[in-house]
Amino acid sequence: MIEKPVVSISGKRGPFNNVVDALSRIDLNFLGGKRILIKPNIGRAASPGRGYNTHPQAIAGVLEVIKQVNTLKVAIGESPLVGIDTMEAFKKGGVTDVAEKYNVELIDFDATPPFVKEIHNGRVLSSTKVCSPLSEYDIIISVPVAKTHMHTGVTLGIKNMKGCLYRHEKVKYHQLEYKYKEYPEKTLDSAISDLATILLPDLTIVDGYIGMEGLGPSGGEAVNSDFAVASKNAMASDVYACLLMGVQPESVPHLKLISERMNMSLDPGAYKVEPGDYQKFIHPYKKPPENISVKFKNIHVYEKEACSSCLSTLMLFLKRFSGDMTDYVLRDGKFHIAIGKGIENAAEGTVFVGNCTRAHKDKGIYVPGCPPVPTRIYEAVTGREPDENEPEVE
Ligand code: SF4
Repeated sequence: MIEKPVVSISGKRGPFNNVVDALSRIDLNFLGGKRILIKPNIGRAASPGRGYNTHPQAIAGVLEVIKQVNTLKVAIGESPLVGIDTMEAFKKGGVTDVAEKYNVELIDFDATPPFVKEIHNGRVLSSTKVCSPLSEYDIIISVPVAKTHMHTGVTLGIKNMKGCLYRHEKVKYHQLEYKYKEYPEKTLDSAISDLATILLPDLTIVDGYIGMEGLGPSGGEAVNSDFAVASKNAMASDVYACLLMGVQPESVPHLKLISERMNMSLDPGAYKVEPGDYQKFIHPYKKPPENISVKFKNIHVYEKEACSSCLSTLMLFLKRFSGDMTDYVLRDGKFHIAIGKGIENAAEGTVFVGNCTRAHKDKGIYVPGCPPVPTRIYEAVTGREPDENEPEVE
């Protein structure tokens, strides 16, 4: 009889001990003699514990466990959101200190030219640009932070592989034209499933210590759910992380697609979960709202085919400046702002943000940039600089 893949869950112990405990039930002998690349989610230059990034102590937990295995070498690598400096994100996120403590290399995936990987039988992609350091490692360990995601439902271990794509290649996935009538799914979901056919983690540890709920991945709220999920089966860890977040795995389009295309079950019963009473760690996350406007009073957001960098800019701008926009509302009493390549029917007088909205620039105020900068939006709208020079990324 074929044994079910093991998925191991821990909770209520903090980021480090959750991970150490979850990994204690996974056979890690396969790491012996191998070159190991740890891929956290450090997409933003944000301090730990805010739900944006993987907690550095969760990464420390992984390193603590794998130092017991006789690996050949270990490194931590990332290609963050476009416009974010990788090493700065590592530093602000507390990862640099952890890497120094465990004496492992930090790799800026964007520092060297990528290689092109063919995708055979892709739905929407025939190839993609993958960061070159990946070719130097035998094993990829995905260590995402648990987040809801306004475009993809959730972002967990499988979607975290998108951070192995070189610079603007990540943006491309958000902007593929919808021309595949035979596929009802969004092109972004199809593209993530195409990527999964060539790049899946060998081991996943989902860090749910402090995740992000609601308007993730950039504008949600931090949630202290205090769990970790580990598995060598990439689908198993995502399925159980979904369950702990109160999300039905089959409701997540990219997981459903990957399940169908790659014969990876979404049925929790297909996996051996330990401990059996894992339900005690369930902490339902608030779902993303249908659109961003509902979160900000008197703001009308047009958002279509925007990538995470522009979403991040928009959220930072709205969080900091939305209260200052009352003098710049249109006739309906709302301040109108647009991001993304697919904008249609925006009102005259809208603020168009980012190079992708350039075609509309004569209809209102245009703020170029890729990604654009929150303070530049403020300056373009008000004609003055913001009062203080606060950091733009939290
Ligand atoms: S302008 Fe914005 S949405 Fe367009 S590619 Fe740049 S960051 Fe992404």
